[in-house]
Amino acid sequence: MVIDSHMHINSQVLENKDRFIQAINNNSLIDKVINVGLDLPSSKETIDIAQVNSKFYSAVGIHPLYTKPTNLNSLYDLASNEKVVAIGEIGLDNTKDNLEEQIKYLTEQILIANKLHLPVIIHSNNCNKLIISIFENYVKPQYGCIFHCFQPNLEDLAYLVNNGFYISFAGKITYKTAKKSLEVAREVPNNLFLVETDSPYISPEPVINEINETANIKYIISKLAEIKQTSFNDIAKITNENTRRLFRKIKL
Ligand SMILES: [Zn+2]
Repeated sequence: MVIDSHMHINSQVLENKDRFIQAINNNSLIDKVINVGLDLPSSKETIDIAQVNSKFYSAVGIHPLYTKPTNLNSLYDLASNEKVVAIGEIGLDNTKDNLEEQIKYLTEQILIANKLHLPVIIHSNNCNKLIISIFENYVKPQYGCIFHCFQPNLEDLAYLVNNGFYISFAGKITYKTAKKSLEVAREVPNNLFLVETDSPYISPEPVINEINETANIKYIISKLAEIKQTSFNDIAKITNENTRRLFRKIKL
């Protein structure tokens, strides 16, 4: 069975979130999903959803594009909940010119993750090098780290692998333009990659014009099976084990 390691279902991103929740609950291929918060209200909602839907787990965090003034003590309190498996998504995004503020939120949230013994989910939009230098010079995740929807680069991959950090593949790997992603997928060790939909964003081929949902994880797994020259079930099994190793609070 498959774990979608990164998706977004909350009222901020989806009006009809209940339909998406039911679709996941009824899908026998889907083992678990990690529903990822973007700010304090959406993070709280991921916990509310996880508490009444056993397949759902939660990640709480302030996304770099949502850094309005936020009391991070409240995030600490939310993150102590039993269904919160990670701090995320956090990181840097160079489409907005407030990098200094983003760096402050990133470093403070890594400190929270380290205090609570939680892994972090990193969003990096053209900022891999800067994030790596923050890890090396300021604060490094102590309990695991994943670069979600990894922007392909073999040099950055080598750093992550050397540190036992993970990457995840999303819909982009199915695109014809994804040559670099294919290279990274071939190189990444089998114990360090996850799959995700980033639903409702980044729909894979062949449903690229539809709203993305967790069921589409099958296209991403099929593509990885092709690249790694193995079976669908093998990729599903490997990524399920990897996800549970990284997000240790996921239960049976
Ligand atoms: Zn996301």
